[in-house]
Amino acid sequence: MTPKLLLASLLLFLFHFSAAQKKTKTENIILITLDGFRWQEVFTGADSSFMKQQTFLKDPNLKEKFWRSNQEERRKALLPFMWTTLATQGQLYGNRALGSKVDVSNNQLFSYPGYNEILTGSADNERIHSNDKIYNPNTTVLEFLNNQQRFKGKVAAFTSWDVFPYIINDKRSGIYVSTGVQEVKTTNPTDVEKMLNKMILSVPNPLEDVRLDAFTFYYGLEYLKKNKPKVLYFSFDETDDFAHRGEYGAYLNSANYTDKFISELWTYLQSETQYKNKTTLIITSDHGRGDNTETWTDHGQGVPVASQIWMTIIGPDTPPLGEVKGESQYYQNQLASTLTMLLGIEYKNEKKPGPPISSILK
Ligand SMILES: [Zn+2]
Repeated sequence: MTPKLLLASLLLFLFHFSAAQKKTKTENIILITLDGFRWQEVFTGADSSFMKQQTFLKDPNLKEKFWRSNQEERRKALLPFMWTTLATQGQLYGNRALGSKVDVSNNQLFSYPGYNEILTGSADNERIHSNDKIYNPNTTVLEFLNNQQRFKGKVAAFTSWDVFPYIINDKRSGIYVSTGVQEVKTTNPTDVEKMLNKMILSVPNPLEDVRLDAFTFYYGLEYLKKNKPKVLYFSFDETDDFAHRGEYGAYLNSANYTDKFISELWTYLQSETQYKNKTTLIITSDHGRGDNTETWTDHGQGVPVASQIWMTIIGPDTPPLGEVKGESQYYQNQLASTLTMLLGIEYKNEKKPGPPISSILK
């Protein structure tokens, strides 16, 4: 090797070394999903044509709560945290009217395949093609992190849908997954946990075996305060259930409540030394849905536009770009690598995960 070549390789080595060692400020990650919540409502708020369809929640109520003639006011009325705090301090992707596109890469367009793609960084159309309670053969990013010294025992999930223990494969991964309409058993339960345990078995639940999102959130928030995990996943479900029933008012209300949960969570995070200015939130959905009054209740292979999703992000490493404009295309399979990139780690598993969205750091 000539001295010149030696110098060149040394520089190249140093460059790679510093790139791999690039320090991010994020030490904790909270991933949040709203099942089947459409990008259309995220960016334009309530849709008046869907509101008119309502039979259960009468139009005047709904109109007063969520309708504004100005689109910016309308989306803010639906998702106040998203369009005040997140829009000024974070980044929002997926407004197709502005050229920003986010899609799933699986061809199934429903929940288990979507969550598998978010959490493993790859679509698996061959093996993941139903919502059946089958233990996921793929390793999720949660398991990948839980297997590292820094995160061992510091990864947990609170989910409304009871298929998550299978998606996250709690048996193999050892990750704590809280789900289902049942009391949550903890050591030294707090007053809040005791109260939630009393209520969960006495509050009528229209969603049957799906835990109401408020329980998922408050059980999870209490866990966060008690156990201080470094990686926490909240999976909310009501939006999808109400949409399937054609209950647009309830669908909007659920999204609005979830936005308030996220706001409460953010306020807590900013008040705690472990989390303040060291925590990134990633918020997204598992799939989209139809885009007109006939198809909005549905998703799946018969509704191709259900591949369209959105994502938002807020944290110490992501500059406040607000609503992202201009042509760009990202995929759901990039979220897992993006999540670990924020923690300064490269995500690897048995498949080839989608590349991290490095532009969010600029
Ligand atoms: Zn669904």
